Amino acid sequence: MSDTWIRFGIFLAMFAAMSLLERAFALVPPPPERRKMQWVNLALGALGALGGRLIVPLLATVTAWVTAQADLGLLTLARLPSVVEVCLGIVALDLAIYWQHRWMHAVPALWRLHRTHHLDEHLDASAAVRFHPIEILLSAFWRAAVVVALGIPVLAVLLFEIGVNAAAIFHHANLRLPASGDRLLRLVVVTPAMHRVHHSVLAAEQRSNFGFSVTWWDRLFGSYRERSDQVLPVPRVGVEGTVPAPQTLRELLANPIC
Ligand SMILES: [Zn+2]
Repeated sequence: MSDTWIRFGIFLAMFAAMSLLERAFALVPPPPERRKMQWVNLALGALGALGGRLIVPLLATVTAWVTAQADLGLLTLARLPSVVEVCLGIVALDLAIYWQHRWMHAVPALWRLHRTHHLDEHLDASAAVRFHPIEILLSAFWRAAVVVALGIPVLAVLLFEIGVNAAAIFHHANLRLPASGDRLLRLVVVTPAMHRVHHSVLAAEQRSNFGFSVTWWDRLFGSYRERSDQVLPVPRVGVEGTVPAPQTLRELLANPIC
């Protein structure tokens, strides 16, 4: 079985599990028209995946293989044990996408792409794949550049991609975790309540909690934020000043140039 099908199978299993849990432990009641938006989100995700396959077929994996063959890259040159190379490769890729996410918010042209993700006014597992296809492509090129520069092994790339996708589905899920469990989990893992702060309509909250899987990068680089000082129990999500927000597939694809 190819790695694509393994990744797709894990995505489906994780998506189904979170969708079931969302029915039992919803943090916020979904709006009545949510089912329609879930299909739009999944269609955007499918377009991004399709574009990735057509234009940069398994780019990160291929470049990792090329790098290993050419014996290039910092990790390859360091001659570390394979297991250490794989672990360091996963950590490096996670750090790379933490900074990618910060730049998506900081650079106006990149924000025009990334706001497609933030225009969703309700969060659930489907929001995990709601990205503009061009952002998916830029992200693939950025990851490939990191893989080549560091000589990250193929196995590390595959494990990272599987892990980060599962983490994204989890932290976008509309889940209410017990407060103590959430506090304990977020010592290491980005939780739905923590990521919801990043989706807040308030600009100061939006400029926080950029991490995808672990909370360490936000703590290390000063972007970690809890919401204990707020009046509302959960932040309102979306983008300030976009009422009504563009929500059809065509509107969202065109949004970066609007
Ligand atoms: Zn963001």
